[in-house]
Amino acid sequence: MAKLKGLKCRECGREYPVEPIHVCEFCFGPLEVVYDYKEIKKNISREKIEGREKSLWRYVELLPVENPTVGLTAGFTPLRKAENLGKVLGLKNLYIKDDSVNHPTLSFKDRVVSVAISKAKEFGFDTGACASTGNLANSVASHCAQADMNCFVFIPANLETQKIIGSLVFNPTVVAVEGNYDDVNRLCSEIANDLGWAFVNINIRPYYAEGSKTLAFEVVEQLGWKAPDVVVAPAASGSLYTKIWKGLKELKEVGLIDTVNTRMLGAQALGCSPIAQAWKEGRDFIKPVKPDTIAKSIAIGNPADGIYALQVAKESGGLWETATDSEIIEAMKLLAETEGIFTETAGGTTIAVLKKYVEQGAISPEETVVAYITGNGYKTMEVLQGQLQEPVKILPTLKDFKEKVLAKV
Ligand SMILES: *Cc1c(COP(=O)(O)O)cnc(C)c1O
Ligand SMILES: [Zn+2]
Repeated sequence: MAKLKGLKCRECGREYPVEPIHVCEFCFGPLEVVYDYKEIKKNISREKIEGREKSLWRYVELLPVENPTVGLTAGFTPLRKAENLGKVLGLKNLYIKDDSVNHPTLSFKDRVVSVAISKAKEFGFDTGACASTGNLANSVASHCAQADMNCFVFIPANLETQKIIGSLVFNPTVVAVEGNYDDVNRLCSEIANDLGWAFVNINIRPYYAEGSKTLAFEVVEQLGWKAPDVVVAPAASGSLYTKIWKGLKELKEVGLIDTVNTRMLGAQALGCSPIAQAWKEGRDFIKPVKPDTIAKSIAIGNPADGIYALQVAKESGGLWETATDSEIIEAMKLLAETEGIFTETAGGTTIAVLKKYVEQGAISPEETVVAYITGNGYKTMEVLQGQLQEPVKILPTLKDFKEKVLAKV
């Protein structure tokens, strides 16, 4: 394959062939896909990309798949100028990248999974699997159904009911583990070594992670081939956040844009914020934490890409900040009331933290800001139980309507 050079250890630089492996045999560092940018640059152009299907596969030259076969409709979600929310926050050029409507399972995970399962197919696997905080399980189960593969998804037993149903409907084997995500992930790492399954975020992780770059590609194209001044993105493992940065730099590398001056602002829920805590304490290493937050989809206490997320913040002039559970709920309501977008807790985290950054003066009013909304609120409705105005109950009479509704507005 001309565009892919192979895999490379992020720590010691040792190179590996394109295989379903994810750690360096020598230093245990994570492996990353390496491209031949010179070759790609010769074959890619804005016009070529713009002429293709509106899915993430329009950037296939910068994705580690030869022949996309699964998840062909993922990506190219709306980038919406958020005038109303911008007014509330004091931002003139605020945009929402709305992955709450990603296809087919309504979260950013359809990006990484379409790439991972297409790659797993290429490798010849017949079984897909994952360790998940919920959205990944939904997406892997859906894509395995599309690919006609067997599927096993592993989740923490205490996940939101709707998220569990959102996996079960595709009829995979759902394994609910008594423990948090980090326990699930540790178990899956042991299993992955033995079984010859495609664990999308373990042995297929180098390929899986590349799917997140499309969050950067699409935004740049949707802004008229310009990188934003500021990105606000949530982090669980830190993969999405670091790959947005990788994606921006690649666009420059292959000549699709001239400059990248984007500040990468990270967002975590206070109850699970190992990256933000390291940042605030000036550490370049992560101290694992025990998650305790309603933002379950981003509750990873020992983030695999945490140290790289810290490096990206440093390199880009970025920052890390947190939001409490009640700030997250307020922000979910704020986004819904101002922009008509119902996001889940992860999106609430992004908006709550965005608000703090503006208040701190970390973002100025004229800057082009993109806030990444990564998940859909209809999957985690239970967190809003008791947090909203109740319906006004009336009898089917004009009198009751006038007394109980009109008299009170
Ligand atoms: C998985 C997920 C993220 C971020 O995941 P990373 O592990 O940091 O790549 C963000 N938002 C939602 C809704 C998610 O499901
Ligand atoms: Zn190494």
